[in-house]
Amino acid sequence: MPEEVTFAECDRLVKEFEQVIKKPVKTPSSVYYTGVDLGTACVVLAVLDENRRPVAGAYRYADVVRDGMVVDYIGAIRLVREMKEELEEKLGAELIYAAAAIPPGTDSLDGGAIKNVVQGAGFEITALLDEPTAANQVLKIKNGAVVDIGGGTTGISILKDGKVIRVDDEATGGTHFSLVLAGAYKMEFGDAEKYKRQPEHHSEILPVLKPVIEKVAAIISRQVEGYDVQGLYLVGGTCCLAGIESIIEKKTGIPTYKPRNPMFVTPLGIAMSCTDQEME
Ligand code: ATP
Repeated sequence: MPEEVTFAECDRLVKEFEQVIKKPVKTPSSVYYTGVDLGTACVVLAVLDENRRPVAGAYRYADVVRDGMVVDYIGAIRLVREMKEELEEKLGAELIYAAAAIPPGTDSLDGGAIKNVVQGAGFEITALLDEPTAANQVLKIKNGAVVDIGGGTTGISILKDGKVIRVDDEATGGTHFSLVLAGAYKMEFGDAEKYKRQPEHHSEILPVLKPVIEKVAAIISRQVEGYDVQGLYLVGGTCCLAGIESIIEKKTGIPTYKPRNPMFVTPLGIAMSCTDQEME
């Protein structure tokens, strides 16, 4: 990994987050910052305290968003509201401010819907950013590409000297992996989805998933073409799959790195971007 890049802070933050999901930190804080990641497969809420340390979190597998678009508006509001209330009860405090993210490129189409869901759930929305850019609030990459492989989409954000110079998103992600597995194993989609998430199945399913991983790699290659990208930094739940990084590295020819648990990087980055000022 390039010298200036280290996942140490990211890994520490994610580890703390994993712990507070199980056991929230109840020490009162003058303000709480919440990140709402409304995903195709998973909805994650991450709560940080006044020092921007994780204090609580929750995640639910849900079908309220597809490929970055809210498809079940009422269901999404209800779910986020429920998760908000659950966390408020655990913390003994009201959560007022939230930030949210959308896959790049869906802004004009759906940014409004995500914003309305977060507001409908009772939050004041303070920021709305794209997913890979949110992830980089935690990764802090200066040069290279942040690749967020979620449930429905793969988002790519290219950075040069700390600035995002290109960001885009294409519709292939973990949902497609589960579809491939369901076909190969003659399983129901839901069963394939659960089977895929078990780390003990990863070495067995990797060869079955290789073609769809190579498709993601082809998307990445196309997106970074013409840019001087020396490193790929993987985030998003799909990158939890052990071995995905070596297939992507081999196919793209670009050194590829991933943090210890790539699933929670984007939600934490969203929470990092939350402020106490409502956006216009
Ligand atoms: P999107 O960003 O595309 O809207 P999302 O926000 O729901 O989707 P994430 O929460 O980053 O995406 O990732 C969800 C995906 O990660 C799902 O397809 C899920 O099956 C997959 N996933 C989660 N955990 C694992 C795991 N341990 N192994 C393999 N895949 C996993």
